[in-house]
Formats: sequence, structure tokens, C-alpha cells
Amino acid sequence: MPNPDPTQQYFEQTKALYGNELFVRDEKLDIIMEDGSLGPKSLSEYSFQISECMKCGLGEKRDKFVFGVGDPNANLLLIGEAPGEQEDIHGEPFVGRAGKLLDKILTAIDRSRGDDVYICNVLKCRPPNNRDPLPSEVEQCESYLHMQIKLIQPKLIVALGRVAGKTLLGLDVQLKEMRNETYEYTGIPLRVTYHPAALLRNSNFKAAAWDDFKWIRSFLEKN
Ligand code: SF4
Repeated sequence: MPNPDPTQQYFEQTKALYGNELFVRDEKLDIIMEDGSLGPKSLSEYSFQISECMKCGLGEKRDKFVFGVGDPNANLLLIGEAPGEQEDIHGEPFVGRAGKLLDKILTAIDRSRGDDVYICNVLKCRPPNNRDPLPSEVEQCESYLHMQIKLIQPKLIVALGRVAGKTLLGLDVQLKEMRNETYEYTGIPLRVTYHPAALLRNSNFKAAAWDDFKWIRSFLEKN
């Protein structure tokens, strides 16, 4: 007698248990690496795998590796350029005054860094004196961001600040020229808005930033 078809067997067992209703498990697909091996199953597993990275010179200088923080199933992924001094000390992105302002903005769009939002940086280690990331550092580190995006599968990516926007989009223009456009990064819609530190430096930017976040809230409600 031929072996029963496993798919048919599964449906017959499901039908016996649940009747004619079809249940589909809401799970993310496995990530297959270029060499055919199975990729990390979770952000925490991935963070553990790469946390000792020394691929570029920033590894030697860091105090803490700053992987990211938030909801692993977030629809909204916020990306800054790189950790600053406080982030390097605490091992978490967007802490300090700028982080507190970002938290207030997220509350205003009915979210928080643990609720439908994930926050990380392009680089996971702090550049000295908070200088802009070098192209060689981005080249070494960007694959980590790509894997984070695969694991999170956000609906929208928002680059915080001109340097993050420039790094992700390869566009060397002023921030105001990057705003109000929807781009794509790794196949996911991407917008650019002000870095919260810029809002602390110049409150004239706050109205435009609030417009951006209202757009973000509306996009997430519709998609
Ligand atoms: S910045 Fe990125 S590539 Fe460079 S050492 Fe840190 S984790 Fe590795």
C-alpha cells in the first residue's frame, strides 16, 4: 500500500479535530542563508550571534554593542545612523534626551518602543566623537540590518535624520528634500524624517516632524 500523502494526512487530522474550518498558523517563514543553512529564528538569537563582531574598526572601540530594542513583530521600524555616547554606555538605541522625545512622539501616535515599534541603527557600534559612519563601516555592518528587517518584517521603515536617510538611500541631499517621499529599502516602503536630536536643537522643525509622524500613523492604519 502506498504511503499516505503527508499534506492530505494533515488536513484529514485537522478536519477530525476542528471540522471544516481551516486553521493557518501565523508564523514567519524560516530564513535560508546564501549557503543553504538555516538563518536565525529570532532577533535575540541573532543578536547573540553577532554581538562580538569585530568586522570593522569600531568593534575595538565600543563599550557596548547596540543591537536594537522593541517589538520583534513591529510594523514600524525606526532606524538611526549609529549609537551615540549614551547608547554606547547603555547598549540601547535612542536613550537620553533625544530618546525621551522620541518616546513622547511615539506615544502621540499610539505606540511605544515595545508596542508595534522596533528601533535600531545602521551601525551597531559607536563611531568616535559621533562622526558620521564611513562607507566602509556601513558596507561591513549593513547586512546585520538586512537580517533584522527579514526577522521583523515591518510594514514601514522610517530613517531618523539626514545621515540615516543618506546612508540607506544613497542620496546626498538635505533632509527637507528627502521628506514627503516614499522610497523603498530592501523592498519595504521607507520615509525619512527628522532625528529627535535635531528637534531638540531647533524647535522650528517640530511642526514638520509632527506632520511626518501623522503620515506614519495614517499609513500604518491603512496597511
Ligand atoms: S559597527 Fe558593525 S561591522 Fe563594525 S564592529 Fe560593530 S557590529 Fe561589526
